Amino acid sequence: MDMMHELLNRHKQYFYTGETKSYEFRKKQLETLREVIKEYEPEVLEALKNDLHKSEWEAYTTEIGFLLEEIKFTLKHLKEWMTPEKVKSPITHLGSKSLIHQEPYGVTLIIAPWNYPFQLQLAPLVGAIAAGNCAVLKPSELTPAVSAVISKMIREVFPDEYISVVEGGVETSTELLKQPFDHIFFTGSVPVGKIVMEAAAKQLIPVTLELGGKSPVIVDQDANLKLAAKRILWGKFTNAGQTCIAPDYLYVHSDVKLELLQHMSEALLEFYGEDPLSSDKYSHIVSDKHFERLKSFLTNGDVLIGGRHKENERVISPTIIDNISWDDPVMQEEIFGPILPVLEFTDLNQVVDEVRRRPKPLALYFFSESEEKQDLITSSLSFGGGCMNDTLMHIVTPHLPFGGVGSSGTGSYHGKASFEAFSHRKSIVKQTTNFDFSFRYPSAKNGLKMIKRIMG
Ligand code: NAD
Repeated sequence: MDMMHELLNRHKQYFYTGETKSYEFRKKQLETLREVIKEYEPEVLEALKNDLHKSEWEAYTTEIGFLLEEIKFTLKHLKEWMTPEKVKSPITHLGSKSLIHQEPYGVTLIIAPWNYPFQLQLAPLVGAIAAGNCAVLKPSELTPAVSAVISKMIREVFPDEYISVVEGGVETSTELLKQPFDHIFFTGSVPVGKIVMEAAAKQLIPVTLELGGKSPVIVDQDANLKLAAKRILWGKFTNAGQTCIAPDYLYVHSDVKLELLQHMSEALLEFYGEDPLSSDKYSHIVSDKHFERLKSFLTNGDVLIGGRHKENERVISPTIIDNISWDDPVMQEEIFGPILPVLEFTDLNQVVDEVRRRPKPLALYFFSESEEKQDLITSSLSFGGGCMNDTLMHIVTPHLPFGGVGSSGTGSYHGKASFEAFSHRKSIVKQTTNFDFSFRYPSAKNGLKMIKRIMG
């Protein structure tokens, strides 16, 4: 599609004017983004309600408020992050200076999913602007109301050659992925992540991939069960389980299973009342396709809690299912919905073995009062990030980089990590011309002898 090529060329030409690189420019654009987010707050809330039935509380905390915090943190540290880093020079470089410059990649493509459609499109943009890039945004077609608001909002405040929005689905994305972008930031599923990486590989475009997978939550015998129940269900049923780092399945020690489930049943009543299907605080499923996929899991094992649904509103009540094995369909893919399967264990090493046998998860949560066991989990399992005695909280701090590992993602962002995700670390040696060591040249007498004295 020539249109896409022209779009990218316009961005590249603008990038080469150098305008996006000064501190003043970046600061001003971040402030503009902050102001326009505030101005559009009512429209964003309405769009999130239309697309996902998101409550105002959830929409503000996980999307709008989250972004404002990210911008505030970035503005506070931007100057310091931009300053070239001075590093030592070895004796072979006597008289010179060594520096690492943070160079913007150029024009970046940011592809977003539908589950936090506003935040996951704009949080990477904060990093892209901070690092001095131009950006093309591609929102998800499954949340059309939010996609339209993003497009309108960005068009209103940013010149098209600096930041542009291309709305559309798979075809649009495919065309964009053929273009020679300088960097691609993709958030979405593992299968599409592979498509993106393959397309990027053809042109050797650097990528950041924020993917998903099955994130375990493990509750050991010595956990504070009442708190564990609340924190797990909060993490699972926020956005009706449509969260990349939601606990996907629960592994609980057999001795405390019944007690934990009892606390869970009480916590759910407290969170969403007797009728979660009609609760204003509870999100709905994004599409018919996902609703049908999730409904099919309800026949796996035995439904202990929930399992109710309303077809016309695409809502499924918070559901916990027991008597599940790894062979059940619900354990074969990322659930990404309000269904929590429960598995039991008696030996923590058995859990470690099971998790190790599967792709590295995006998140992992462990509930135990034992520091020793917490350390065992941290050191013996590979996963993107996680919490001890909590869920989701590691994503809401700008001080921790967020990302996956292996099949759950490549690279990370948030806070300084976002700035780094959109920057190339460019090494520069500033050599002196005051003197010159002759032993480096092939014509030098005793050159090798000298070099052997310095090196090795
Ligand atoms: P998805 O992979 O289906 O879609 C993501 C984006 O890719 C959308 O913009 C879509 O239009 C585009 N796309 C879809 N198919 C494509 C194709 N064949 N070629 C090119 N582009 C294509 O993901 P989704 O369903 O929107 O989101 C859910 C997934 O995202 C889950 O797996 C979840 O774990 C993951 N996720 C990860 C994070 C994270 O930060 N790591 C955050 C949110 C969601």
